[in-house]
Parts: sequence; structure tokens; C-alpha cells
Amino acid sequence: MADFSMALNEDQESLQTWVHDFAENVIRPAAHEWDEREETPWPIIREAAKIGLYSFDFIANAYADKTGLTMALVNEEMAWGDAGIALAIFGSTLAVAGIFANGTPEQIGEWIPQCFGSADDPRLAAFAVTEPDAGSDVSALRTRAVYDEATDTWTLNGTKTWITNGGIADIHVVVAAVDPALGSRGQASFVIPPNTPGLRQGQKFKKMGIRASHTAEVILEDVKIPGRMLLGGKEKLDERLARAREGRRSSTQAAMATFEASRPMVGAQALGIARAAYEYALEYAKERKQFGKAIIENQGIAFKLADMAMRVEASRLLVWHAAWMAASGTKFTKGEGSMSKAFAGETAVWVTEQAIQIMGGYGYVREYPVERWHRDSKIYTIFEGTSEIQRLVIARAISGMRIQ
Ligand SMILES: Cc1cc2nc3c(=O)[nH]c(=O)nc-3n(C[C@H](O)[C@H](O)[C@H](O)COP(=O)(O)OP(=O)(O)OC[C@H]3O[C@@H](n4cnc5c(N)ncnc54)[C@H](O)[C@@H]3O)c2cc1C
Repeated sequence: MADFSMALNEDQESLQTWVHDFAENVIRPAAHEWDEREETPWPIIREAAKIGLYSFDFIANAYADKTGLTMALVNEEMAWGDAGIALAIFGSTLAVAGIFANGTPEQIGEWIPQCFGSADDPRLAAFAVTEPDAGSDVSALRTRAVYDEATDTWTLNGTKTWITNGGIADIHVVVAAVDPALGSRGQASFVIPPNTPGLRQGQKFKKMGIRASHTAEVILEDVKIPGRMLLGGKEKLDERLARAREGRRSSTQAAMATFEASRPMVGAQALGIARAAYEYALEYAKERKQFGKAIIENQGIAFKLADMAMRVEASRLLVWHAAWMAASGTKFTKGEGSMSKAFAGETAVWVTEQAIQIMGGYGYVREYPVERWHRDSKIYTIFEGTSEIQRLVIARAISGMRIQ
């Protein structure tokens, strides 16, 4: 019989413990304060950079794990501490993934380390796709990138919205239309380096949850960047555009596959919130007494907790499975990446709501973390592809049909 095990290896276990300790001792105690302040928690980001958790080397090593579990563990533990702070620290990895997926080896080597800055002076990165009129429908981007051959310069104009770290990042990776008639096949990604004239932050949004994570508009007005900032290079882009104009298959499929591969990590964050709320509610239900006994002694409460435990465990299995598939190069055939994100996201919303119910009035006030976890959980059915869009991906994958 072939060996099969889902036990973590020693490296994974010690890493999990290390990240958990940071989440428990540094992130969680700071969560309430930064949720109230609705500001980027720079002191916590600096702490994470100082210990090497927020660093290029750490992320590069974590992604090199071919089981895929390392990043899943890191995301779960960080979000268990606090999802808003976790996103403030690891929101940069979206841009990193964009550079990694589309850049040449030289671009990857030059720009990814700059997304992190250094241990003493950490920096952030942002990945800007969404626009006011192009959310789920990313083929409708209006931000234009125009090339001037004489000066080897790209000029970008447009407005991006809901951008994590938008305007406060050093590196912005911006997706823009080069040939709008081709929809998503006519788009390309660009690196906008620090202090580039014409790029500025617009409105900063006041949000329901993940309030320690900065979300803002990014305005691009005649942003001029050298030709080498086009990720993947001009030659590759021209080939791709030519293929698209002839109506041949292009690498849109590859871009979709990249999105699918990052979804289990978003699912892992939702899982972290769900687990936090489940654990908290379980302890509370054992201690809180009404009618002369602990409330958990009522099946009405105990069964709720049993359901919460089941869904948390089921989420983890979907997340780990999809994370392993993505890292090991196993092809998703049923939209497994989307399944893990949608299921874990909806589990987080449901479990945190049950936790509020179990805590009664204490669940509804800001003195306890459960109401914050519920507010934080809701974004997981919205960003990185809404639950409806995940179901679209799954439905198309399982049916092979063009479901609308
Ligand atoms: C806090 C936060 C952080 C974000 N960070 C980033 C970021 O860093 N970078 C970035 O580029 N974007 C980011 N986003 C944008 C996010 O990815 C989009 O909000 C999301 O993709 C949904 O787009 P939309 O808000 O325009 O909603 P819409 O696309 O307008 O959707 C509205 C509703 O219609 C449904 N819908 C749309 N199309 C279909 C369909 N075909 N079938 C069924 N239902 C459908 C949706 O599921 C949703 O329920 C962020 C958003 C938020 C709120």
C-alpha cells in the first residue's frame, strides 16, 4: 500500500506554532484597537518584518513547499489572530502573485523583494484590477495603457477602486486595457514603481469589517512608466494580442488558473476567522450558566457547536486539498479552488453568526471579539471573486457548459 498521511511534518508543525504565537501574542491583543482606529497597523507590520514573518525570504520559502500546506497554515493562523491585521500584513502578496504569474525572471527578481522592503523598513504592495464599472466583470476594464514606441514609454489613465493598500503601497501592480476591444485578452499588467508622478490615492473607504486593512481608490492620471515595467515584456504581449485578434485561444486560461490557485489561501483566512469564533463560543458555552447549568448542556446550544465544528473541519479539508492541488500542479477539474474559497467564506459568515447567538447580548457588543469576527467574515463572500462567481466557475467546470 502506498503511504498516505495528512499529518503535518515537523517543519510545518513548528512553523504553525511560530505563526500562532505571533497571532496570539501580538496580533490578537492589538485587534480591537486597530479595528476602531481604521488605520494601517504599521507597528504590527514592523513587528512582523522584524521577526522575518513579513519578508520576501519567508514568503518565497513558504510558497516553495510543494504540499501547499505551509501558506494555508500561515493564513489560517494569522486570520485566527485578526483578519484585518493579517490582511494589512499579507495584502502585499496579491501583488507578489501578480508579478510572479506574469513577470519575466528579471522582473520577478527586481520587483518582488521591493514589495516587502526590508526588516527595518517594511513596505507594502497593491494589486489593482477592480474599477467602479468593472468588478466581477474584469473584461470591462476602462483603465487604458498606451504605448509610445519612440520613447519606449507606457502611459496609463484610469480609476481603480476597492484597492487593498491602494495609494499607501510602494509598488502598485495595475491591470489595464491595451486593446479594449479584446476584453480580458487585451489586458496587461504593469508595475508602477514608488513615487511615480500621476498615481495618487483617491477616496479611502470606511468599511464594515477588516478595518485595519486599508482600502482605497487609486487614480492614474498620465502615469508614465518605461517599457520594461510591462510584466512579461512587449514581445510576449504582442504575440498574445495577435493570437487574440485572430480569434485563437490565448493565455486568458492561464490567468484564470492563477486566480484559482490563490483562492485556497483566501479560504484559509476565512477558516481562521471561523475557527476563532468556534473556539471562543465553545469556551463561553461551557462557562456561561443559565437556569442553573452551563448553556452547552442544552442540546440547542451543543448541536450548534457540533455543526460549527463540522463546518470548520470541512472547510479545512477543502482548503488543504485545493492548496495541495495548486502547489503540486494537479489540475483543478471541478473548480476546487473556488469550492474551498466559497465554502470557507460562507462557513466563516455562518459560524461567526452562530457564535454571536451563543453569546447572546455579549456577542453583540464591541467588548468581545465575536461581533468583529462576524463583520470581518463578510468580506470573504465578496472579494477575490464573490460566492456567485465561485459558483459560476464550479458550475462551468463540472458541466463544461457556458453557464451565464
Ligand atoms: C475590502 C475590499 C478589498 C478589495 N481589495 C481589492 C484589491 O486589492 N484589488 C482589486 O483589484 N480589487 C479588490 N476588491 C474588489 C473586489 O474583488 C470586488 O468588490 C469584487 O470582485 C466584486 O465586484 P463588485 O464589488 O463590483 O460587485 P459586482 O460585480 O457589481 O457584483 C454585485 C453582485 O452581483 C453578483 N454578480 C455579478 N455578476 C454575476 C453573474 N454573472 N452571475 C451571478 N451573480 C453575479 C455578484 O456576485 C454580487 O453579488 C476589494 C473589495 C473590497 C470590498
